[in-house]
Amino acid sequence: MYDHDLLVVGSANADLVIDVERRPAAGETVLGSDLAVHPGGKGANQAVAAARLGARTALLARVGDDAYGRLLLGSQRAAGVETAGVLVGGAPTGVALITVDPSGDNSIVVSPGANGRLTPADVRAADGLLHASRVVSAQLEIPLETVVEVVRNLAPGSRFVLNPSPPRPLPAEVLAACDPLIVNEHEAKVILGEAGGSGEPEDWARLLLAKGPKSVVVTLGGEGALVASADGVSRVPSVKVAAVDTTGAGDSFTAALAWRLGTGSSLAGAAAYAARVGAVAVTRRGAQESFPTAQEVDALCG
Ligand code: ADP
Repeated sequence: MYDHDLLVVGSANADLVIDVERRPAAGETVLGSDLAVHPGGKGANQAVAAARLGARTALLARVGDDAYGRLLLGSQRAAGVETAGVLVGGAPTGVALITVDPSGDNSIVVSPGANGRLTPADVRAADGLLHASRVVSAQLEIPLETVVEVVRNLAPGSRFVLNPSPPRPLPAEVLAACDPLIVNEHEAKVILGEAGGSGEPEDWARLLLAKGPKSVVVTLGGEGALVASADGVSRVPSVKVAAVDTTGAGDSFTAALAWRLGTGSSLAGAAAYAARVGAVAVTRRGAQESFPTAQEVDALCG
């Protein structure tokens, strides 16, 4: 019996957002809107998304001993996430400085801060949490060696899900553990490099699968997703909605998919549910504030 349906190992950032008429050029100062501070980071987002759906969720992450760290801990707890695995100190909380212009284009500077100090030793020390979790998900906003240590410390029988974002080449040991590897088009292209060529998403799914994961999911925004495993490649249709803000769509998709796999859903079934969750999320502004409850998913999609 597992205590947690999902353990998310990943980043927690404060997103500091200012709307500007024009993003500044080198050496330039521009005036912007009042500052908005939002809890973010792919790890924190995924944990909140899963908990809001009703998954018993825990987060293994590191924040600074500062106001942003307390903000992030507060938002996790408010969503019902178990935060005993959120380590405090070692560096300031990770921050993303975001300027957004009227066309919606943005410029972002990320200071990984404490996320960069989540170490393999922290993973080993969280052995109890890893062994109490049915599914473990990770992303790449923490050091790669930390993700490698997660893979090495998985409990027998637990399932590992990776969203390699931001994308970079992955060691065979990590690829082999993924069930599934979840990528969007950009991540697929970076991981495949030259091999991806000018192929179609179906080709990327097959090529990625050949790199060793047990299964692969390619998300295609408003076009839905593809799932690939030894059983073949199949399409998961998207749910037609009026999208207003796609921030966090991938995080909510990944969290929902990871949770549903743990409840015994097939890969295609879990991806279909995750597509519904992502579809609700894009109808609302923001990241964590856009993530739906299970009731809201059912209400929108019947
Ligand atoms: P990322 O945010 O990582 O780039 P995607 O944009 O591919 O990921 O979105 C993840 C999933 O969210 C998609 O596979 C789809 O199911 C859902 N989704 C994203 N954008 C839309 C949209 N415009 N309409 C409906 N569903 C969407």
